Order: sequence, then structure tokens, then C-alpha cells
Amino acid sequence: MTRNYKIAVIKGDGIGPEIIDEAVKVLDALSANMGFNLEYEELLMGGSALDVTGVPLPDETIQGVKKADAVLFGAIGGPKWDNVERHLRPESGLLAIRKEMGTFANLRPAIVYDELVNASTLKADVVKGVDIMVVRELTGGIYFGQPRELLEDSAYNTMVYTREEVERIAHVAFEIAMKRDKRICSVDKANVLEVSQFWRETVIEVAKEYPEVELTHMYVDNAAMQLIREPKQFDVILTGNIFGDILSDAASMLSGSIGLLPSASTGKGVGLYEPIHGSAPDIAGQGIANPLATISSASMMLRYALGESDAADKIDDAIKKALAKGYRTGDLAAYDAEEVLSCSQMGDIIAKFVSK
Ligand code: NAD
Repeated sequence: MTRNYKIAVIKGDGIGPEIIDEAVKVLDALSANMGFNLEYEELLMGGSALDVTGVPLPDETIQGVKKADAVLFGAIGGPKWDNVERHLRPESGLLAIRKEMGTFANLRPAIVYDELVNASTLKADVVKGVDIMVVRELTGGIYFGQPRELLEDSAYNTMVYTREEVERIAHVAFEIAMKRDKRICSVDKANVLEVSQFWRETVIEVAKEYPEVELTHMYVDNAAMQLIREPKQFDVILTGNIFGDILSDAASMLSGSIGLLPSASTGKGVGLYEPIHGSAPDIAGQGIANPLATISSASMMLRYALGESDAADKIDDAIKKALAKGYRTGDLAAYDAEEVLSCSQMGDIIAKFVSK
């Protein structure tokens, strides 16, 4: 019997529509052969929502995502909306939807494909074989802490974590570590911040439930340095919202391009699957964006939200095969490119490989 899933699709701004179209192309090529059917509902968020509805996150979008089995999201933001009031900025729509959906765990794999070891700015022997999962807390910490205020001569934000928030993200990290190399490095700033000291103590408590997993701790400044010095030492990195934001972008560059890496934001309910990059306004509309991060996000969606691991494996294999055959979009073109593809040509190749 065909399995039916409802996917909320939020294309967003900038390159969002271009990259999402390619992910949907690949999903459609797959679903035909894999015994499932995807029904899409397109929803607005970000600058494009602001232009049409006057708000970056319309109620219709909130209701739409709640009815879906998963959300596939492109990216939002751009210079057109840089000067609108803070609460109307496209990014506030994204923060609000994460909070609304309760997606407190952001999973960001940083994988270096063998075929692209030369695309990294680091030496090939440093990055070859890197396979890190950054587990970032997403709905707490300084991005949400109260009070916060922008005053005339000063401004402040508050970094706060509750026991429940730390425990639930730690459990996510430990569960993931159990399926990988069973090593977690928890990153904090416990030498300076009370909130980090609390984070560390709480993670140590949770670790007692997972005796097979080796837990280490690292200060965030050292972690930033170690990621560049010897990235292969990491398996799972567990960290808070702001540190995770910064470290996962740094980790992403190990792979050579921000255009390669996916992410999943999960929690108790529906998950949000999106590339780690932004809306890339500098290349929007030119058809040259790399769609692989979004196609990989679709793979994570199949695996984690829909339980369609065979289909997810097909996408992952197709990406490896395309890279092995020398197919590259412009962001990777300097590295051993047989042929430089447009965004939609790369989507065609992956769709062709998954449907074989
Ligand atoms: P960005 O990730 O959009 O772009 C950084 C650089 O990487 C640019 O040179 C861009 O061309 C390149 N790049 C990004 N994705 C690419 C792809 N798929 N293929 C090829 N090249 C790619 O970051 P930014 O320039 O700092 O931000 C642009 C806008 O995106 C801002 O409005 C920002 O707020 C927003 N943003 C949104 C999200 C999101 O929607 N999740 C995340 C980060 C930034």
C-alpha cells in the first residue's frame, strides 16, 4: 500500500525557491519508485510573506506546518528587508516558527566527502574522513532569554537555560551518539558563565544514563580552535544555541562549501529540514546556487521524520556518485570540476541517479 505524507514546503527568499524546486524534483523522482506519495502544501515565511501579508510568519503558515508530517524549508532574508522593524524582520519569522513548532534540537552534520577533500581550505589529511554531528540547542539561551532591550546608550540580552531545556537536548545528543561512535564533546564557557556551569553539571547528570558514551567537555574558544586544528577528534558536539550557531558554521567550512550541508530541527512534534546556509542574495535569481544542502535536508527529512531510510540512502548515494563523477556547481567549480552545472542541472543529475 502506498504510504502518504504531507509535506509543508516553505521556499522563502533569495535562492530559497531555486534550491527547494530541486529538492522537490528529487523527492518526486524517488517517491515514484519507493512506494510512498508526497503531498505538498506551499506556505509563506520571511520577506516574501511580509510583502504579501504584512508579517513574516502568517497564521496560515503556523497552522499549515502543524498539519504536516514534516517541513521542508529553503532560506529567508535579504537586503530588501534589512531596515524593517525588528519584529517584522524575516529572521524573526524563523525564530518564531522554531519556537512555535517546539523544535529545540538542531542537528547539523559536517561531513567531508572524499571527492571534495581538496575543496576545503584546510589540508586534505586534516579533513579526510571528518564526520561530525553538531547537536545545537535551538529554542533557548541568549537568542530567547528575557529580559532583553536596546536602549539609547546600552543594550542587553540574557542567557538563560533551565534544567528541562538542557536535559532534553542532552538526551537527543546521547541517543545520536549511541548510533555513532559513542563520543560526545559538550561545549560551554563554564570557566566564565554560571549558565554554562549549570549546563555542564546537568549534562554530566544525563550522561549517567548512557554509560557506554564517553563524555568530554571543552570551552567554546578551545572548541573553535580544535575544529580547525584536528576536526577528526570529534564525533558528536553538544552545545547551546549561540555557541552552536557559530561552531556549526565553522564546522561546515571543513567540507568546502556551505552549499553542501543540511540540517534538521526536531523536537516533540513536526520537524523542520533546511540547508544550513542563508538566502544568498548575492547569487539569487542566477540559477547558480548549489542545491545539494537542500537535497540532503530532504534526505534527513525522509530518514528522521518519515522513517523512509532506504529512500534517504538513495539520495545520499546519489550525491556521492554525482560528486565522484566530477559534477560541480559554481561554488565547488575550482576543484576538479569535469563540468560546472547550474542549480537545476545538479537537481536533474541527482533526480536521474535516485530514479535508477
Ligand atoms: P548566506 O549563507 O546566505 O551566504 C553566505 C555566502 O555563501 C554567500 O556568498 C552566498 O552566495 C554563499 N552561499 C550560500 N548558500 C549557497 C549555495 N547553496 N550555493 C552557493 N553559494 C552559497 O549568508 P549571509 O550572506 O550572511 O546571509 C544572507 C541572508 O540570509 C541574510 O538576510 C541572513 O539573515 C539570511 N540567513 C538566513 C538563514 C536561514 O534562512 N536559515 C540562515 C543564515 C542567514
